[in-house]
Amino acid sequence: MEITRREVERLGALRSDEWPIVSLYLRVAKEHITDDHYSIHLKNLLRDVARAKEQLGLTRAQSQAVDEDVERIREFFRDHGDEFGQGVALFASSRAGLWQVYHVPREIGNEADVDFRPVIGRLVRVVELFEPVCTCLISRDRARIFAGHLTTFREVAVRLDEEVPGQHGQGGWSQARFARHIEDHVRQHFERVGQVLFHLFEQDPFRFLVVGGPDEVVADFVDGLHPYLRERYVGAFNCLMEANVKQVHEETRRIVEAWQRQEKRGYVELMLGEALSQDMAVLGLERVVEVVQMQNVNALVVDDRLSVPGRYCLRCGAVQPIGNEANECTFCSGPVRARDNIVPEVYAEAYRQNANLVFLNDPEFRRQLEPHGGIGAILRYRIGAPTSA
Ligand SMILES: [Zn+2]
Repeated sequence: MEITRREVERLGALRSDEWPIVSLYLRVAKEHITDDHYSIHLKNLLRDVARAKEQLGLTRAQSQAVDEDVERIREFFRDHGDEFGQGVALFASSRAGLWQVYHVPREIGNEADVDFRPVIGRLVRVVELFEPVCTCLISRDRARIFAGHLTTFREVAVRLDEEVPGQHGQGGWSQARFARHIEDHVRQHFERVGQVLFHLFEQDPFRFLVVGGPDEVVADFVDGLHPYLRERYVGAFNCLMEANVKQVHEETRRIVEAWQRQEKRGYVELMLGEALSQDMAVLGLERVVEVVQMQNVNALVVDDRLSVPGRYCLRCGAVQPIGNEANECTFCSGPVRARDNIVPEVYAEAYRQNANLVFLNDPEFRRQLEPHGGIGAILRYRIGAPTSA
């Protein structure tokens, strides 16, 4: 199935106490789809599963369960591998009744791991790519509606052709009356399209609404939309009603990305300002880990290249204080697991707490965060300044 934000949230909340879960991400290069291609990548990934198994110190029965899942995964790719166009995310724990396969954007990359929770760092990392978006092309007598997200996009089975009276040959009508008559038709047309959009929104809420059409038409149309829809409106572009899906998608992507960039700028500025006054934000991985543990993150802002080794607890999930090399969890004395890069655990944990995640891939924003260790958090509540000796 297609990955959605809701599915990521569901995976984030999953935990299996007894049976380990295999998480596997595989990027698909369509042009290379052959048995060899899959088998080489899979072989490497499944080797990582074996390594993770050792780190977890599984019982014989648990270890056997993982082996069975690995076998099932192998068979799955043998039989269904060619059904995926971009990337695959797969979560398996047959004994725990879990088997989920998702189509995901190709940016997902490759990874395989075993844990008692789904390893969701990679999904969380690309969540902004599948924020649902709706685009409506509008003119005075027609409309087309598209839905999807930044990586997939399709025309929804809705096309509205309204009967608007012709501009000529209306004997007997005064010019003014005739013009009003046309305006009534246009207004009704806008209303009907607005209703269709609202209906789509109720069925499957989208985060962004983009509108395509002539400037003055767009302005009138957007003005008349339900407030819920107007709230989600992020911009318009000029295009012909005959535009193809690819063009509409490209314009939509451009508008949404520009909007997301502005949103990121807002987060970075707010965070740096608050941290400077030692108020509602903290900077640096060490302090971010502390506030994640306190469940006090409203928004986590991170340079998407940041990589720092660290440890997390296999029992309670807590990321251990940075630099702590103990083999027992600081909080519950459970077994801990070392990671070459602990940052994905940190943002996955913040995501589980419903924090907003802001990944910076723009050189300008990265530079702003660099002196502060490439990461920071806007807080939910004030914790006071650290006391100095
Ligand atoms: Zn613990």
